[in-house]
Amino acid sequence: MQFSLANVVKEQIEKASRYTNIPPYIMKILKCPMRVLRVTFPVEMDNKEVVCFTGFRCQYNNALGPTKGGVRYHPDVNEDEVIGLAALMTWKCALLDLPYGGAKGGVICDPTKLSEKELEKITRRYTAEIMPILGPHKDIPAPDVYTTAKTMAWMMDTYSMFIGHPEPAIVTGKPEVLGGSKGRKQATGRGVAISIRELYKKLGKDLKDSTVAIQGFGNVGSHTALFLEQMGARIVAISDSTCGFIDFNGLPISEIMNECTEKQKCLIEYKKLKPCAKEEILTLDVDILVPAALENQIHINNVNAIKAKVISEGANGPITTEADEVLGKRGVYVIPDILANAGGVVVSHLEWVQALSGLYWDEEEVNYHMEKRLVTAFEKVWNKAMELNISLRTAAYVVAIERIAEVYKFRGLFP
Ligand code: GLU
Repeated sequence: MQFSLANVVKEQIEKASRYTNIPPYIMKILKCPMRVLRVTFPVEMDNKEVVCFTGFRCQYNNALGPTKGGVRYHPDVNEDEVIGLAALMTWKCALLDLPYGGAKGGVICDPTKLSEKELEKITRRYTAEIMPILGPHKDIPAPDVYTTAKTMAWMMDTYSMFIGHPEPAIVTGKPEVLGGSKGRKQATGRGVAISIRELYKKLGKDLKDSTVAIQGFGNVGSHTALFLEQMGARIVAISDSTCGFIDFNGLPISEIMNECTEKQKCLIEYKKLKPCAKEEILTLDVDILVPAALENQIHINNVNAIKAKVISEGANGPITTEADEVLGKRGVYVIPDILANAGGVVVSHLEWVQALSGLYWDEEEVNYHMEKRLVTAFEKVWNKAMELNISLRTAAYVVAIERIAEVYKFRGLFP
């Protein structure tokens, strides 16, 4: 059967709902996306050829507030994936107690084969197409796979041109000169590292000299590596879509970041280390594994080869439902995506608040608020998991959907 992220997410809330008293009518609402917009638009490429691109924006649920979530550019983007990712954003924002619903967008394209000018044209036209459902109090995009601060600047500019005045609160993850928050770029990776640190505290373990493998070395994977290294862990393996590097003495993370991630180059272009097959990374004998690439990476066919005792999901949806159950039975601790990688959207919220108020904070303040919110959510999830004897994932879902259900009870149904 073909993998469906939207189905995985539905199965997960169905499972979690058994530990709650949420009325069936609210569960019905939570299983359906509120709005999905599909757009196809022409773009003139550098060689003058006109190509039609298809994109999506799903606003999954807005019970808690305006919808929030990234936009990704990838050849594998499809409607099912966007819906699944928008649902994950809904639970993530609810779990972190943010005043947001969840959304996600994507355009089917291969950004590695597009020039900067082509990317700009695609971004501006996609923004114009989804413009009717965007707004600082309606839906606020952010970066995701293969989109960056620059993409957000183009989105903000396009939106601002349409409405006739600059609107910095329309996107988050902008360049700092445009009102982007300090610490936003590092936030997701920083949050992944904090989630692992908190789990280690609960388990009475020391991060010092623990070994880590990271799949994906984009913004999330690379910053996770950097912060875990600062916390005393040893990053022994990394990979991206081109290759992997393994060194049990520890890899030179800062240098690889400067040479590759910062310059948007693939790991294969880093010539100082001998590359290995990227698949080797997932199954190494390490203490901690961070899948920080795409969904559906740990599945029934490779889960038995996974040796890590702790997995923190830097990516959204990297473990399938069946694989998750196998890991659970084996006693592997999985910090779920909606908690592990929530640092990004938490700082996005801080960026939005700064943009709406026109008051900007220093990095220390941003980091302080992010860490506090993340640690509070971690505690809630841990306590719920202990109380009900369930996995951290199911516990995270229970906390998230209970909050949304509570809001529905007050808001009622329209009309
Ligand atoms: N794309 C990121 C995520 O999946 C960030 C979303 C945001 O900041 O709105 O959490």
